[in-house]
Amino acid sequence: AEEMIRKSEMLSIVGQMAAGVAHEIRNPLTSLKGFVQLLSRQPRDNKEYYRIMLAELNRIEFIISEFLVLAKPHVVIQREHEIKQLLEHIVILAETNAIMYNVEIETHYEQGMPLVPCEENQLKQVFLNLLKNAIEAMPGGGKVTVTAKMEGQMLLVAFADQGCGIPEERLGKLGEPFFTTKDKGTGLGLMVSYKIIATHGGTIRVRSKEGEGTTFEVRIPVG
Ligand code: ADP
Ligand code: MG
Repeated sequence: AEEMIRKSEMLSIVGQMAAGVAHEIRNPLTSLKGFVQLLSRQPRDNKEYYRIMLAELNRIEFIISEFLVLAKPHVVIQREHEIKQLLEHIVILAETNAIMYNVEIETHYEQGMPLVPCEENQLKQVFLNLLKNAIEAMPGGGKVTVTAKMEGQMLLVAFADQGCGIPEERLGKLGEPFFTTKDKGTGLGLMVSYKIIATHGGTIRVRSKEGEGTTFEVRIPVG
């Protein structure tokens, strides 16, 4: 139990730091990147340095986007949102990833779902993280199925892939900051997602079978 407390406290501190850092760094980063890009077009022999600097700036930018693309720290506005519309938006955002991995995204949205009280951008961040993970789990292509439906008073959104799966002994590591098995991964997506869903009073459950695929289920209370 003590272990659990320490882990959740750590998560909330890391999460708050992340929000602040992401917010403060993004603007100067964008400005720097613009100037490096401009300079790198000048005919000079230090082009290689510029190339490296740009690559590093891109990496920082990517890490921030994994954290919180859209969120502002401390200002959380809960409003009622149509979940179907929200999911349709993130499916479009993930489309270029899907094409790269030769992955098809199939969607099933239940008719007449009620509006869901949530912070729209945060919820989008969670769904985008889970959808991208599902796609990235299938380097040889396949299908991701996105399902949204009501389950009593809870909204259930599920992302099911046909990917590599997660070994049982690794399931406990999910959501730890910087835990990643990917070359260019950040290990931040799930940590941020768990935190956001917890602040919405919801849960995330994982079911996985090695070599067969993984399903992430998000449940959020409605009304
Ligand atoms: P990242 O995607 O940058 O690695 P995440 O926090 O999003 O960081 O995920 C952490 C790790 O969890 C991944 O590196 C991967 O090992 C595992 N994982 C997450 N989602 C899936 C999935 N759908 N299938 C298989 N493994 C997954
Ligand atoms: Mg990820």
